Formats: sequence, structure tokens, C-alpha cells
Amino acid sequence: MSSSALPPLSVRASAITGSAIRDLLTLTARPDILSLAGGLPSPDVMPHSTIREVTHRILSGSTAALQYAETTGVRRLRDVIAARESALVRDEVPPTSVVVTHGSQQALSLLASVLVDPGDVVVVDRPVYPGALQAFQAVGARIESVPVDADGTDTDALARLLESGVRPRAVHTVSNFHNPRGGVLSVGRRRALVDLAERYGFWVVDDDPYGDVWFDAPPPGPIASDRVIRLGSASKILAPSLRVGWLTAPRPVCDAVERIKQSADLCGSSLTQLVAADLLADEPWLRQHLDDVRAVYSARAEVLVGALRGELGPAIEVDAARGGMFLWVRFTDGTDTSALLPAALDRGVAYVPGRAFDPAGGDELGTALRACFATSSEDELREAVRRLAAAHEAR
Ligand code: PMP
Repeated sequence: MSSSALPPLSVRASAITGSAIRDLLTLTARPDILSLAGGLPSPDVMPHSTIREVTHRILSGSTAALQYAETTGVRRLRDVIAARESALVRDEVPPTSVVVTHGSQQALSLLASVLVDPGDVVVVDRPVYPGALQAFQAVGARIESVPVDADGTDTDALARLLESGVRPRAVHTVSNFHNPRGGVLSVGRRRALVDLAERYGFWVVDDDPYGDVWFDAPPPGPIASDRVIRLGSASKILAPSLRVGWLTAPRPVCDAVERIKQSADLCGSSLTQLVAADLLADEPWLRQHLDDVRAVYSARAEVLVGALRGELGPAIEVDAARGGMFLWVRFTDGTDTSALLPAALDRGVAYVPGRAFDPAGGDELGTALRACFATSSEDELREAVRRLAAAHEAR
């Protein structure tokens, strides 16, 4: 090995920081720790045997599943996604407006390259989905943020930001069952967001991997607009390892994404896209499967909310979950959740402190934490909260 210094990396590569959550997850993989920290869908609701059978059938039929696919995705899957999106937005979304990506995270990354030049402003939520923040930071975006609450992105705060002269290229939001805030963008705010996008000329990136994971009622439908780019994913409803996500957008965006995707990976996996197409197209099966996912997650969410309110009582505020995988727990007694974490880990429970979701890196979210109810069993959730309450009591 040469002893001289290695050649330099790009300025951009040196500026990219790792995800604090991914680092934390390595720590919390210890078997003695009950983790509320990850965002892992439960293996209990993954359709393991159905995926095995469908994969077998696809591979028995032909060798097409072993071949390169179109860059924009296998046509059969794009047809299924186009039909689902058309029903949601109550407008025709043609298959040519769909690009299948390697999970919706790749859609974020490709979109960031396509929409944003270095120095352009991108507005994100506060708290933010860190994967979106990373994707936009990686292309040199200047990040501004607006608060998000139980009704989603605060569009009044966004309007004030715009009135102050800020001109974003894109606004990112998670409209349904926000990660990490857990809220749902209200109908009024959906309308306001699209109105602002039309008035000020920015893209809305509506990142929606949780829309199908509703508990009592489906969320309001997205508003059809050529300013809105929608992202979806098979990760939370089928399995994350399929790495099947997608975006729907006006043709020029899809064409640009296709070109940049060619340079990234030529195409996604034909095999997993065909599996996803079969499962998403099988309406009776999908309806039953989603019912099962919703039943398991809503029961777990209820257990976690009940345990938190029971054990931590007046020290916290938490909203009942309406869907998705996360609760956003706010300590009203000033508990600093970053400072509490080592004691919580000592007692065998992990969570993600609120600061990890602050795009500005400040203290505003320092008394909040994100807890995932999807991964652990009901008994594990109760025990995790007992441990959290003990750490809080001893602080
Ligand atoms: N967007 C949001 C809001 C998410 O929570 C996630 C998963 N944590 C993703 C995108 C990416 O998911 P995937 O790449 O598995 O589709």
C-alpha cells in the first residue's frame, strides 16, 4: 500500500453527513434492548409465503424476470401504479408519468438531482424525515423549514416564509401519517399547499409511503396538480427488501429522472418489480392483506399510546395514531430526550431523540422523541415503556 495521501474526494462528498438514526440503530441492535427507535415494518405482517409463491410462479413462467428492465420500470408495474394513483387523485395518471425506483428513497435522491441546483432553497418540515433532508443536502440545497403538527405542514408558516421573499425550488412533505410527527395533512392545508405552489412556482414533493396504512379511515386524497410530484413505496405494505418505490410526475420530470437513473443503476430489478406488480394488482388479496396490516399496527399503536399515558402521565403529550408507524412524544416537564437516552439504553430501551429530526440542528425539538409501534409485539411495547418510565423517573 502506498504511504502517500489518498487523492481527494469531491467537495460535495466531504459535505455529506451520515444519518444519526442509522448510527443509533447499530447501537440499538443489541439483543437486550427493546427498540422503539427503528422504522422497520414488522416481519409479522410481511406476506412471506405469498411472495415466495409469486416469485416461484414468475421464475417458472419465463426468463424475463432475470433480464434488464426498462429504466422507468417494468410496464406491468407502471400500469398498476398508474391505476392506483389515478383512483387516488381522481384524475388520469398515465403509465408514462410513473417511474419505478429502488425504494422511494431513490426517488428522493433522483428528484433532488433533477429539481435542485446547488444553492437553491428547499423547504422541509420541522421535524423532518431525515432521509429527505439528506437527499436534498447531498445536492447542495439551502434548507429552510416550517413546523409540522397533527394537521401536517403548517401552510400559514410556509406562506409567511414565501411572503418574506424566500423562493424555494421545492417543498417536501409527508402528507399521510408523517414520519416522524404522525399527523395527516388536512384538506385545507392540501389545498393551500397546491395554491402556494401554483402562485410561487415551486414543486411539491409529496412523499407518501404510509398512505395505505390507515387505521379507522383513509386519509384525504391528494390534490391533482402538475406542481405535485407524488412518491409511493411497497416497503411498508409488502416488504422493504423488494426495493420497489415509485414517483408520479409530469413527463419532463419523468424524462429527466429516467436519464439520471440510467447513470445511477440502468434499471431496477425485473424480478422484484414483477412480484410487486402481481401483488398490487391482486385486489382481493391486497384488500385482505392491508386489513391485516392495519389491524396489527393499530392494535400496537393503541397499546403504545395507552402505556405511555399510563406510565408517564402528565409528563408527556402524545396524539393517538391515525395510521403509519410512529408516535411523536413530547415531554411537557422539560425532559431533554438526548440527555435521557444513555440512561434509557442502560435500562434496555431505545428511541430516537427529537433533535435527530431538526433540519436546523437546534434545540426546539429537544424534549420530543420518536417511537415506532410497528416492529415490537404488544408485550414488548408495554415493557419498553416501563423501562422508559424508569429511566425518566431516575433522571
Ligand atoms: N419517505 C419516508 C417518509 C419514509 O419514512 C421512508 C422510509 N423510512 C422512505 C421515504 C423511504 O422508504 P423506501 O425507500 O423503503 O421506499
